[in-house]
Amino acid sequence: MKYKTVIGLEVHAQLNTESKIFCSCSTEFGAAANTHACPVCMGLPGVLPVLNKKVLEKAILAGLATECSISEYSKFDRKNYFYPDLPKAYQISQFDKPICKSGKIRVKSGEGFKDIRLNRIHLEEDAAKNVHPEDASKNYSYVDFNRSGTPLIEIVTEPDISSGDEAYEFLSKLKQILRYIGVSDCNMEEGSLRCDVNISIMPEDAAKLGNKVEIKNMNSFKAVKLAIEFEYKRQLQMTEYGETIVQETRLWNADKLETYSMRSKEDSHDYRYFPDPDLAPVIVDKEFIEKLKSSLAELPDAKIDRFMKDFALPVYDASVLSSTRELAEYFEKTVSCGANPKKASNWIMSELLAHVDDSEKMESFIVKPESLAKLLLLVDKNVINGKIAKTVFADMLQSGDDPEEIVNKKGLVQVSDTSEIEKIVEAVIAANPQSIADIKEGKAKAAGFLVGQVMKESKGKANPQIVNEILNKCIAKL
Ligand code: ADP
Ligand code: MG
Ligand code: ZN
Repeated sequence: MKYKTVIGLEVHAQLNTESKIFCSCSTEFGAAANTHACPVCMGLPGVLPVLNKKVLEKAILAGLATECSISEYSKFDRKNYFYPDLPKAYQISQFDKPICKSGKIRVKSGEGFKDIRLNRIHLEEDAAKNVHPEDASKNYSYVDFNRSGTPLIEIVTEPDISSGDEAYEFLSKLKQILRYIGVSDCNMEEGSLRCDVNISIMPEDAAKLGNKVEIKNMNSFKAVKLAIEFEYKRQLQMTEYGETIVQETRLWNADKLETYSMRSKEDSHDYRYFPDPDLAPVIVDKEFIEKLKSSLAELPDAKIDRFMKDFALPVYDASVLSSTRELAEYFEKTVSCGANPKKASNWIMSELLAHVDDSEKMESFIVKPESLAKLLLLVDKNVINGKIAKTVFADMLQSGDDPEEIVNKKGLVQVSDTSEIEKIVEAVIAANPQSIADIKEGKAKAAGFLVGQVMKESKGKANPQIVNEILNKCIAKL
């Protein structure tokens, strides 16, 4: 029997507000332990949480960018459980009335695309962080409250994902969208994106889903993919041995590349959810939602379509250039400074990106779009040839100088003077009788060699088109 994989993801993304979700403490990462904590985010008795409006706005933006419907009425609930990093014994979250419902994200799948449906996006507070001493013989641990009360959105997909690769594509696309609209850094190293993977297997033609296993707290896309592939094999093997898959929570061992059981999974009733009596329901009107919608940045898919339409770019170019908002802006600026779109695209993809560490920081890149456009125009106008353009670009990468200045200073203007080129061609022909003999025997390669020699003699500055013409003429005469 053939089995397929069924996967649903629960992704926690930290919203990049300056202050926490229910108090005014800073969300700054990396501060000294317990310096960003107050009675509210420490959960002391008698305090009153107040919702941060910016948090609400960013959650709604995330919903709008993923085609969710935005709830005009939502509320906060208490999810009850105790853990040392949650000493108030409940997490404020949203249960039955989340802020966003039923959206979708289009992801690459095989040769085509597939919509992964979102069940919901809800708001919640992060817990504090347990810090264990490096010396394992110490019988105590610390709790750092800086993280407690950090605003999170939890994005829950429907079980629409069918492979590790698709999960990887989904997470990449989600991260790209959240960064485009500026609601989360999605920085995995700092824990601002974390993911729980739910996975089951079922016969290809079955109607009912199998029992799922949940792998908690994955913090790299690569690990998610590997964990899914491992878990598929494990569940398949168990099924073939006639064992049943029990619903449980597992963890990923990144060294052994395998999952292991942590505990049997709680059901939602184990958390005894109930409405948080300290927080009023959240009512947002249509006007508020519309205003946020109109402030939304252009999304990656829309940008790709526009680049294909407006600049006649192939889908590949449009996708690479839209990979980050800042790179897309750089490209558009280059074009608006007069560069031919396809030539700008080629240059950015093949020459420029090799020198860019982080395409979200294009603003501080040493070569400005104005200068790149100028360089490409110098080629278009036959002032320099494509090869010299690369030399000039290498200089620009070092000096940040204007390309025209570099060309003048270094005397790189292309030689299009036919009499000058003729002289070189004649000299090259005289010096290479063997090549001429080869050409007469029909060896095409030999002609290419001669072109190369002429270019070399001219220090790369000869106009290659004119070199070809003159060389052909001279050879024909021989
Ligand atoms: P729970 O209440 O156990 O958390 P939910 O119904 O809320 O379960 O779903 C949590 C996540 O698990 C969602 O992303 C959902 O798509 C996914 N999921 C649900 N059932 C399955 C299944 N049988 N196999 C794989 N994933 C599943
Ligand atoms: Mg769950
Ligand atoms: Zn606080």
